[in-house]
Amino acid sequence: MVLAEGVRKRFGLVEVLKGITLEVGRGEVVCLLGPSGSGKSTFLRCINHLERINGGRLAVDGQLVGYREQGGKLHELREKEVVRRRAEIGMVFQRFNLFPHRTALENIAEAPVLVRGLPRREASTRAQALLDRVGLGDRGDAYPAQLSGGQQQRVAIARALAMEPKLMLFDEPTSALDPELVGDVLDVMRDLARDGMTMVVVTHEIGFAREVADTVVFMDDGVVVESGPPAAVLDAPQHERTKAFLSKVL
Ligand code: ADP
Ligand code: MG
Repeated sequence: MVLAEGVRKRFGLVEVLKGITLEVGRGEVVCLLGPSGSGKSTFLRCINHLERINGGRLAVDGQLVGYREQGGKLHELREKEVVRRRAEIGMVFQRFNLFPHRTALENIAEAPVLVRGLPRREASTRAQALLDRVGLGDRGDAYPAQLSGGQQQRVAIARALAMEPKLMLFDEPTSALDPELVGDVLDVMRDLARDGMTMVVVTHEIGFAREVADTVVFMDDGVVVESGPPAAVLDAPQHERTKAFLSKVL
């Protein structure tokens, strides 16, 4: 579902991704770990067409990100096509970014109506089913400010799911939450993984990574330092940088 080969990204003179190579198979969960500033968010943004890479190859579901191939040549995608492809990828951020003047239900139903042209009634029915799925079936009429951070984040996940994405990206989805609210959000993500969703999750929740990830990738300073099954990377790390990081977060 995601194939990165030597992906590079610069901001001005500073190279932030220095050749990232990794693969995410269909239905797999990959957890990205690493210190602040190591390039995790930038990498997710590249996958989601929010940043343009400067080198290497990056493909989602067999299609190069940002380009289409025609007659053996690469053509940059038009904005309209970028928007269409981005709509196939769900992204959940640290901050929930819900529309404050719309109810939970309206937040979820919005994009399917506007982007997909779904009739509003059908979008509402589906939004209600998604609210049920994230454990908030009775909170559809609540405005974001009336919900806890954890509830807002679950609405944000439901909103992303409403577009029926083939890939979900999570960028530290529980980092802004009070500790007692983290578990409910992780539960929703765990269910999603169990249902077969392909997920790339940037997180410091080592327990979640250990339990849910197929592959754990440790990044530092724009490179993949090591990757492998959770037991290998988390319990028997090979590299000093990984050991040092884990000793801080565990
Ligand atoms: P992480 O998510 O691992 O904390 P980021 O991908 O956010 O790391 O950032 C990696 C590096 O890239 C940081 O040094 C950050 O300051 C820099 N960076 C990120 N976005 C930009 C930008 N738009 N312009 C310039 N530098 C950026
Ligand atoms: Mg980040």
